[in-house]
Amino acid sequence: MCIRERILFYQNASTSLEPNKNKRDHLLQVVAQYSDEFLNDIESLPAYQIKDNSLIDLKLNEVTNTEQIEPVIELIDKSIHNIGINPASPGHLGYIPGGGLYSSSLGDYMASVFNKYAGLYYASPGAVTLENKIIRWCADLIGYPITALGNITSGGSIANLIALCTARDHHQIVGAKIKKAVIYYSQQTHHCVNKAAKIAGLEQCVFRQIDLDHMYRMDATKLSKQIDQDQSEGLIPFFLAASCGSTDTGAVDQFDMLYETIKDLDIWYHIDAAYGGFFMLTSYGNELFKGINQADSVVLDPHKSLFLPYGTGIVLIRNGKHLFDSFNYTANYLQDANGDMLQNSPADLSPELTKHFRGLRIWLPLKLHGVAAFRASLDEKILLTQYLHEKLKIMGFVVGPKPQLTVCIYRYPIKNQNPNSFNQELLLNIQKDGRIFISSTTIDDKFWLRAAIVSFRTHLQTIDLFLSILKSEISKMLPNHSY
Ligand SMILES: *Cc1c(COP(=O)(O)O)cnc(C)c1O
Repeated sequence: MCIRERILFYQNASTSLEPNKNKRDHLLQVVAQYSDEFLNDIESLPAYQIKDNSLIDLKLNEVTNTEQIEPVIELIDKSIHNIGINPASPGHLGYIPGGGLYSSSLGDYMASVFNKYAGLYYASPGAVTLENKIIRWCADLIGYPITALGNITSGGSIANLIALCTARDHHQIVGAKIKKAVIYYSQQTHHCVNKAAKIAGLEQCVFRQIDLDHMYRMDATKLSKQIDQDQSEGLIPFFLAASCGSTDTGAVDQFDMLYETIKDLDIWYHIDAAYGGFFMLTSYGNELFKGINQADSVVLDPHKSLFLPYGTGIVLIRNGKHLFDSFNYTANYLQDANGDMLQNSPADLSPELTKHFRGLRIWLPLKLHGVAAFRASLDEKILLTQYLHEKLKIMGFVVGPKPQLTVCIYRYPIKNQNPNSFNQELLLNIQKDGRIFISSTTIDDKFWLRAAIVSFRTHLQTIDLFLSILKSEISKMLPNHSY
């Protein structure tokens, strides 16, 4: 065979990669129908299903073809869909849920079909401009000056990593300085900050865990004392990690007080608002987060309090130049894009080069539903949490401090039994029931149940259902107990 014949042979053998209109229509129709059935039933589907993992059988080696997507959907249904946590369920109150807006998935669909190259302005000025407008919208929300820059990341962990790397480079924490540089955090700081330190080569820094007050907020006086002591020992205070809605308890640090403590020092002030950030849209959050704009960097997670499907975080750096200094690189094969330096291309502000066009999945929902709908839903979540907290107290639970945001912690007090094991068993019984999914945490050796009310689908009826499940499970566990 001559080379032309061989080329045509391979062209022929790969035609199925581009389905024609009829085939596309069929594929889309089956996928849309399957997704529709899911959304139509979302209220009654379990929030958690424990199943035999051995049933997971994805038959990765068997090829079907584009006419036969149905058997593939069946595999997804059996092995992925009906097993484990259902994060889209209104009853998902574990960890930090988000829900997953349908309109966002359509943004993703288009982003993938068009496959715009959103890493470089040169390649897709529109896509990069859109992403930068979203970053600016977030910066305005936080109250950041025009010098701020940021990046839309895959999630909060990567966003925290970018912030820490930027701080490290700006403060030139290298070589012998690493072991003298101090990172201040609290027991409520998300573990991804410690993980980021490890990845960033800062594992050997000095880590100071600052005590908390009665509301699980970092104690600014203790922070101040620790900094004084560190300075007198010749250490270099470097990085302060504050929380704007901790994952564990929803605690919001006192940003103004922390700022007062460090404002005359050369410390990078970081606020992790991965969970809490978008509550800034409400007047309650706006008041509670006063001073957040004084931070050098802030992390937000649209896949939490902006209800997006998983896969979107945001990092904002107050002085964007530092972000650019840490992450811009160029290469000969990118010489055509050299003008991009001035356009704030994501590739110059993050570790990524080729990336998913994440902007569309954020912008489409904001455009279609309007900010007011998000604000209302977040206000609803705040009130639902206060309602749950009150009801749990009435039911005899020991509850944590009044929720600052939308995480509530509680434990059932029990005499003559180990309270930790009792609450652990209660958790398992609720998970077995499956209509509501909650998770737990341990604080000062005590086992606490948690409920995080963040999904846009969680409403009053969800919380009432949860309360009735709690009552019936406790009645089963304590037959002599009555409500
Ligand atoms: C979820 C969370 C993170 C981690 O973000 P991912 O998007 O899961 O990577 C960091 N900090 C806080 C406070 C979080 O709630």
